[in-house]
Amino acid sequence: MVLQKASEILIEFRKISPQDPIIFLDYDGTLVPIIKNPEESYPDQQIMNILERIKRKYDTYIVTGRSLREIREFMGGDFNVLALHGAVKSLDDGTTDFVKDYQKYREICDSIYSRREEFFNQYPGVQIINKDGGLVFTKWHVPEQLFDKLTAEVKNLSLATGMELYLGKMIVELRIPGVNKGKAIRGIRNGRPAMIVGDDLTDEDAYRENPDAFSIHIGDGPTAAKHSLGNYLELRGLLTEL
Ligand SMILES: [Mg+2]
Repeated sequence: MVLQKASEILIEFRKISPQDPIIFLDYDGTLVPIIKNPEESYPDQQIMNILERIKRKYDTYIVTGRSLREIREFMGGDFNVLALHGAVKSLDDGTTDFVKDYQKYREICDSIYSRREEFFNQYPGVQIINKDGGLVFTKWHVPEQLFDKLTAEVKNLSLATGMELYLGKMIVELRIPGVNKGKAIRGIRNGRPAMIVGDDLTDEDAYRENPDAFSIHIGDGPTAAKHSLGNYLELRGLLTEL
């Protein structure tokens, strides 16, 4: 995918000039840079100012794989949020909706998390993050020769619990089945025009399930999005001009 300049993408967006579009923005790697300690990914003042302006003008959603608790801690309560890849919808008016069976899967995650010592014993260095409805197993500090075994173990948990297995670069994740960003966004749009921006694999679902939307991928590499921008800083430029 050829990278474009923010100004070129804006010209194309204005050419279409969709009426009353909803803006869907991924968080990590899209609004803020990816950092080594993701639990410290607080937004800086610049992006907060940009988002405050955008949300006054457009219906805006932050769309993330993170838990609602975590994204609220970063962003505060003033934004509409789709958390856990769309399993949780929390609006700036304080209302929160959960996908069907959310509570069941949350309890499954809590139960596995409560047995995490077993994993620490077998997979030294593994970090297990309980996302209140999802579980992430990180491989960063696990000896490489244990990667396959760890993946197989999480796969077994997925088979035993009905949770969906997701294999990321250095993570294995258990998710609520049938949930993805694309479906969640489609449900909210209900036919309305949209701009969708993201940077990783989970955002590809969002572009694919919303082929009529104005989609922007952050970074080079293959994507189903219609446009590609170099990095989060260029997106800030675009959002400032929007
Ligand atoms: Mg991202």
